[in-house]
Amino acid sequence: MSRNRQSAQHIPLKIAVIYAAFGALWILLSDRILTTLVRDPGLVSRLQTYKGWFYVLVTAILLYLLIRHHTTALKMQFDEIRTIFDALNSIVYVVDFESHEILYLNRQGELLFGDWKGKFCYDVLQTGQMGKCAFCTNNRLIIDGVLQPPYLWEFQNTANQRWYQCIDKAIRWTDGRLTRLEIAIDITDTKEMERIKGEMLSAVSHEMRTPLTAVLGFAEYLVDNDPPEEERREHLRVLLSEALRLNQLIDNFLRLTRLKARRESYHMAPLHPAELLNSLIEKCVTASPRHHLRLEVDKKIPAFWGDQEGLLLVLDNLLSNAVKFSPQGGDIVVGARAVQDEIFLWVKDQGIGMPPEELERIFTDFYRIDNTDQRQTGGTGLGLTLAREIIQLHQGRIWAESAPGQGSTFFLALPAAPSRIPASDTAGGN
Ligand code: ADP
Repeated sequence: MSRNRQSAQHIPLKIAVIYAAFGALWILLSDRILTTLVRDPGLVSRLQTYKGWFYVLVTAILLYLLIRHHTTALKMQFDEIRTIFDALNSIVYVVDFESHEILYLNRQGELLFGDWKGKFCYDVLQTGQMGKCAFCTNNRLIIDGVLQPPYLWEFQNTANQRWYQCIDKAIRWTDGRLTRLEIAIDITDTKEMERIKGEMLSAVSHEMRTPLTAVLGFAEYLVDNDPPEEERREHLRVLLSEALRLNQLIDNFLRLTRLKARRESYHMAPLHPAELLNSLIEKCVTASPRHHLRLEVDKKIPAFWGDQEGLLLVLDNLLSNAVKFSPQGGDIVVGARAVQDEIFLWVKDQGIGMPPEELERIFTDFYRIDNTDQRQTGGTGLGLTLAREIIQLHQGRIWAESAPGQGSTFFLALPAAPSRIPASDTAGGN
């Protein structure tokens, strides 16, 4: 860059030297050549006038070519640099250190803040500022007349409310004046992720306390006392169910964090709905004696592509919700059916149900319907968010049908395999 600047500074000298060399050669040689070629003194004196005009013409062309060559080269250099800055997904701008006038703003900045030429940074890039912003970094960029190393900071822009990580540096502009260069990288998504993580972490640690307290309490009771067999078994059953709940909570949390950070890998394989639901039911030791679990699988249903572990986690969440939100017990039906190009899986309960206006909101982070009077156990409001994330990764859909006091049915619709996957021997329904 400094090399380019140096060569740019030398351009006028270079042009002057070429011009002077050409002029000197002309003075030295043109008369000699003319008198050698033309013997007639009268003709020589007439040709002198044309020679003068010829000199003016040639030097004008020479100057034009030299200047054009160098300005094109300079413009190309500037365009190259501008193209790089314009291609950046960050805002890059240069502001006069004293007047705060914007001298340069890249394309990304223009797209966000519009017309900037001849305006001040606090007018264009911020909002509600009448003069230099309180958070201006100028006083950190030059201390006692000495240019400081780049200054790194984060801030929330007052005009578009987005978060930026900024690198500020005092630089000398092309005309020698002091300016502030800023490169601002949008980190709003990272910030949002950090916020969600923090929220999740505190909600999860809070929710972990309930099952953990139960596990500790029952374990302590069993160690300190020697209850009769029946009572012991009942305590152990509660202990197991609370430990499983804790496990599901941690699973959901870790899975969701990985999904949000796009660090989750999937193992898509042919899945047979009957096998999938059977393994779900086998694992489901949490179901209470008050609930009657039933499987409804269409025998002719084809296999489809999916991630077994992910889908089991979704179904497990739906099933534990069905148990959790039907405190009076009742039937819980888990089913599968082919509907046109999709495989429908569902979990239906006869529990407390939900008002229609909640049926979409329940899929957002931490959302829980305020029904503490009706439900007995806690949760994190993460299960359905996780379920939707996983189903969306399968290009599928998830939704609920419900009414207060009428039970709920959660449906999953997953794309059927484009070409038929051979049916498994063990696949079947009841
Ligand atoms: P959690 O169950 O941990 O609270 P979820 O994301 O799984 O979180 O569910 C969000 C909310 O949706 C629940 O708090 C509950 O209010 C409602 N909900 C989910 N499943 C059912 C169901 N089967 N019956 C009634 N309400 C339900």
